[in-house]
Amino acid sequence: MDNWQFTPYAFLYTASVLTAIGLSIFAWGTRSVRGSRYFSLLTLSTGIWAFGHLIGFFHRNTLIKILMIRVEYLGIITTSMFWLLFVASYTQFDQWVNKKSIAGLSIIPIVSYVLILTFPWHNWFYLDYEFVVQEGLLLFRKTYGAGFYLWTSYAYVIVMTGVLILIRGMLRMPRKYRWQIIPLTLVIILILTPNALYISNSNPIAPYDPTPLSFVLTGAIFFILMKLYHFLDVVPVAYHLFFKHVQSGVIITDERKHILDMNLAAESYSGARSSFALGKNIFNLFPDHQTSIQKIIDSPGTIVELQIHPGRWYELQSTNIQKGQEAIEGHIIMFYDISDRKMAEDELRKQANTDSLTGALNRRHLFGQAERLFQQSKRYQHDLTVLMIDLDHFKHINDRHGHTIGDQVLIELVQRLQKKIRLPDILGRYGGEEFVILMPETPPESARNAGERLRKAVDKTPIQTEIGPVKLTISVGIATSNFETDTTIDQLIDRADQALYQAKQAGRNRVSAK
Ligand code: GH3
Ligand code: MG
Ligand code: MG
Repeated sequence: MDNWQFTPYAFLYTASVLTAIGLSIFAWGTRSVRGSRYFSLLTLSTGIWAFGHLIGFFHRNTLIKILMIRVEYLGIITTSMFWLLFVASYTQFDQWVNKKSIAGLSIIPIVSYVLILTFPWHNWFYLDYEFVVQEGLLLFRKTYGAGFYLWTSYAYVIVMTGVLILIRGMLRMPRKYRWQIIPLTLVIILILTPNALYISNSNPIAPYDPTPLSFVLTGAIFFILMKLYHFLDVVPVAYHLFFKHVQSGVIITDERKHILDMNLAAESYSGARSSFALGKNIFNLFPDHQTSIQKIIDSPGTIVELQIHPGRWYELQSTNIQKGQEAIEGHIIMFYDISDRKMAEDELRKQANTDSLTGALNRRHLFGQAERLFQQSKRYQHDLTVLMIDLDHFKHINDRHGHTIGDQVLIELVQRLQKKIRLPDILGRYGGEEFVILMPETPPESARNAGERLRKAVDKTPIQTEIGPVKLTISVGIATSNFETDTTIDQLIDRADQALYQAKQAGRNRVSAK
């Protein structure tokens, strides 16, 4: 036993070594869990550090002491590195971790370690060292050199960066996990204080180095928090990130429909910041859609489509948060943005209903609308007038200027007619160069005036085409519903057609009624 100079502190360092190795083995066993691999390496490093200090301090052989300084520094240097990697991995802030960045970060540690391995032969790491006896203990006493200060500054940057990453990870946690700020603060104090005291020569347990003890203690605290209290557990972190960033809007309310939480998408859909909305009733956020929201909350699973902003459509659905069998603890309201789908549907519907050349309603849709208006007018005994319009001598226009110009005339004509009719009137392409206008609630005299107005609008101003103005006239046949004799819409249209024939017979460019 002559080789050893034991004091009670030896037990503390031995316990530290054993704790560190135990933690490391345990964490290695769960290395598939995020951060575990680095945690295992981190605790192993602290174990090596404590072991180096244990043997180096309590052994009396100077050669062993010098050897153990190298062991200790192996632990110190890897502890700093693995601390940073562990925290980054654990808090999912490790996008930057790759071979290149690790190689870059390792330059100073490797240089430092080479200086330590070779320290007896230069004075870059220790300016000077000696072995002294103090209160019966053989101690290694050193004066720090440039290499030491380089390494120490670097280590502080690394450790502090880790601390900042840890704080960042903490702040991103769901609110209810924020209590973890307490153990976190403890961990940070435990990491930083002892080392600062040691280096600044105000070490309370001098000549022992308190830092490995504090690192092992920190590791143990971390471990307990991880296992028992899901400290910085990846699952809540992942849930929270998912909740926050998922494309769908999510609002969580209590049973009185007061908002407990909402994600970024819900903020943008509702136009309200969560700082404003939290605690408020969900109806306050959507004052114009209270019935719809009430409806989905009352019947979970029901889907309601809502237009919250002009052009923006959302599909809404809710789920109850159950408290036992009967009671409801709250609601989750989900919004899916379906604007693109709605727009595509609108576009398809428009395409299916309109004539591709002129943009007027196509024949199929025109007949559908005519049938609908006919039934409506019949029920309420309102007048329904049908105008049948045919272009006069349109064949000549085609013959003289070509089909393309004929097409342009049709397009321009439809635009002109559209401008001249009222909003409830419906213009459709009946066939080739024949058009129908349905005029609900229009008695015969008004219809005749309207027909005249249209005829003049065409007669007065030639149609502009790419080869210049083209003169054109139209003939108009008018028929107004008479529900005693017209039993179907076809009969009414047929009468308009007969009136049109009359107009043509009478010399064209005129309006005729039947
Ligand atoms: P009117 O009606 O005054 O008796 O004489 P019209 O020359 O217009 O005779 P009709 O109605 O019988 O002929 C219609 C012509 O319209 C036949 C066809 O070449 C032309 N036409 C029909 N659809 C289109 C079209 O989509 N584009 C063009 N450019 N011409 C069309
Ligand atoms: Mg014609
Ligand atoms: Mg015709």
